[in-house]
Amino acid sequence: MASPAIPTVTILSLLPLLILLLSSSFSSMASPASTTTTKEYPTFLHCFSGKLPPSTDLSQLVFSRNSSSYTTILHFSAQNPYLLSPSSLTTKPLYVITPRNEPQIQASLLCAKRHGLQVRVRSGGHDYEGLSYVAREPFLLLDLINYRAIYRVNVDERTAWVQAGATIGELLVPVPPSVTVFTVSRTLEEGAEKLFNVWQKVSALQLPEELTIRVILQAVVTGRRTVQATFNSLYYGTVPDLLRIMNRDFPELGLKAEDCEEMSWVESTMYFAGINITSGTPKEEALLNRSQPATNSFKNKSDFVKKPISEKGLRGIWNKLLEEERGMMILEPLGGKVDAVSESGTPFPHRKGNLYNIQYVVTWLEGADANKYIDWMRSLHKFMTPYVSQSPRGAYLNYRDLDLGMNEGPDTSYQAASVWGLKYFKGNFRRLALVKGRVDKENFFRSEQSIPPLLA
Ligand SMILES: Cc1cc2nc3c(=O)[nH]c(=O)nc-3n(C[C@H](O)[C@H](O)[C@H](O)COP(=O)(O)OP(=O)(O)OC[C@H]3O[C@@H](n4cnc5c(N)ncnc54)[C@H](O)[C@@H]3O)c2cc1C
Repeated sequence: MASPAIPTVTILSLLPLLILLLSSSFSSMASPASTTTTKEYPTFLHCFSGKLPPSTDLSQLVFSRNSSSYTTILHFSAQNPYLLSPSSLTTKPLYVITPRNEPQIQASLLCAKRHGLQVRVRSGGHDYEGLSYVAREPFLLLDLINYRAIYRVNVDERTAWVQAGATIGELLVPVPPSVTVFTVSRTLEEGAEKLFNVWQKVSALQLPEELTIRVILQAVVTGRRTVQATFNSLYYGTVPDLLRIMNRDFPELGLKAEDCEEMSWVESTMYFAGINITSGTPKEEALLNRSQPATNSFKNKSDFVKKPISEKGLRGIWNKLLEEERGMMILEPLGGKVDAVSESGTPFPHRKGNLYNIQYVVTWLEGADANKYIDWMRSLHKFMTPYVSQSPRGAYLNYRDLDLGMNEGPDTSYQAASVWGLKYFKGNFRRLALVKGRVDKENFFRSEQSIPPLLA
């Protein structure tokens, strides 16, 4: 899976701007959509173009449904294709707008508000449920693909200001000169269960901060059908140092020097994304390439684990994975720096006391019966109930899951939204809702899982 750092930075980078634009401009624009005279602004497009310099080339900026480029641009960074398929319950945008500067963003927002349109903002398009490019009510898509400048890079402070559409290939942050990676796979017959049990105990609590080992569990066929555990690791250091640590803390894995590879941090991002770094493509070019169409549709879910899963639980997991060859579980250790921040220090609350998170994944190809895979995913999640965090059962916002609950329209209450909100944010949900109540009390920016405004 791709690095989480860039999307998080990019979303946060634009949010204050959007809020600022809205609060400063809407206060001077008294009339809500329902009272706007059609004589003044007959259409959204008329409104939009009227707010931009006459020299603006609208053909490269606004794409309506009858534009020949509409479908290409809409699909370009949609990472979950089935959400745009005709069988999906969602609708597509009336317009896709690809702004290059703040006045164009401002004009889009003001005219959407005036014409009663909802807005969806898309940066990278990775939202698991497509909330950045599909909706259930008429909307326009503000696609930030061309809003991608990188400025104010401060190497000493390790900070950079990045516009939301930039990619990891464009943003080179200070990173260690060299890292070590390894991938070691074992089937159940080769002792995967015992190794997994050791991993459950050492990965968050014992391994040093510089070493992370995630596990990918999935069914494979090696003569017979079985389950395989893949131990996939990133270490900020050299091979000899890594071997010393592994011999001390996780000798059962039997890691050897030939399993390990030193490489640059940039190369490691490609290694973990599954991009073949020996294929001859210059790595910078591969990282800058945004035109890799997403071919697999998927339904994912998440959990947090606080105590090692029992033997009974593991046996059940192997059986569930054996049911579905396109399913897998990715388990990523917490601990380390995640524990060093308090639960209320940032919106993400799943810190000390959690051993690892689980991402459940199932993918399918175009034309397959999506419901079959989604049903299997739900049954796996249900099966896991006794083995994961409770009251609330935690979930990871980045692995968004609308099964946890959805807002019903603009007036969803804080109480109703708490059904899903407490799972992602625990006690921070109320504070987030109070902030929303201060900056967007009309709930203009909303989606099926947006924070509802709570007035103090
Ligand atoms: C293939 C793949 C791999 C992934 N790997 C990881 C991983 O390893 N670790 C991890 O933690 N996560 C991972 N994710 C999840 C990803 O980090 C989240 O989905 C994240 O929200 C994606 O950011 P984005 O800009 O691409 O999202 P988008 O789909 O563009 O937006 C996500 C949400 O934020 C809103 N939004 C977007 N831009 C703005 C803005 N500028 N201002 C305000 N709101 C905005 C959107 O409307 C939407 O609600 C992965 C996702 C995919 C599809």
